[in-house]
Formats: sequence, C-alpha cells, structure tokens
Amino acid sequence: MGQVSHTAIPGPGAGNSGWEIVLSEGDTVVGRLRFRLCPVCHTGRIQDIWVNDDWQRRGLGREAMHTLLTASPGYRWTTTRQTWQGNAFFAAIAQETQTPLSAQGPLCLHLRGWWSRLAHRLVGHQ
Ligand SMILES: [Zn+2]
Repeated sequence: MGQVSHTAIPGPGAGNSGWEIVLSEGDTVVGRLRFRLCPVCHTGRIQDIWVNDDWQRRGLGREAMHTLLTASPGYRWTTTRQTWQGNAFFAAIAQETQTPLSAQGPLCLHLRGWWSRLAHRLVGHQ
C-alpha cells in the first residue's frame, strides 16, 4: 500500500465552520476526520473520525489527529460523545500531543449558533 495523503476540505453542508481531513491513497478515500473550527475563539470540535476497515490498525486515525493539531496551534479542542474505544484513542492522542481533548466542554457562541440555525432549518422554522 502506498502513501496516504491528507487533504483538508470544507465539509458538506456544514456552513462555514465544518471541515474534514480526507485521507486518501491515490483515488481511494481510506479515512475521514470531521471537525469544526471557530477562528474567532480558536475553538475546535472533533465531530467524528472514520477509517476504512481494511486500513484499520495502521495508525491512520492517529496521523490525521496529528495533522489537525499541528495545523491549528493554540486551539482548544473538545470531542463529541465518545465510545470507550474513542475515549482510549483520544486519551492517547491527548497524551502524545500534550493537547487536552475533553469529551465535554462549552462550545463558543459561534459554533453553538451554527447548530441552532441548523436545528431551526431542520424543523422548518427558518
Ligand atoms: Zn467562536
């Protein structure tokens, strides 16, 4: 298997705060790390991380997290509700990178605002 590249792109339908890092080998997408960023408050939220079954246990998720954290120094990060596997994963990354990655924590007003706008749209109150 060849080199896996990391490309940050705006996430689909996520307004202006949603992003994802796409892991690909050639034309094949092998993983994604979705996150949201507030450049005003330097707040970030990790939405989810997915690696193709065939590519598990190669450290791809870990590399994606390193790419993200290296590209966004000074950001405060939280994660979405975590499974126990997710907990172990984020705990290891937090320790490696000396970056707190808590499962809870307040979102800044900008990111919260985006969620409430989306919720309004979904229930048809726009
Ligand atoms: Zn903000």
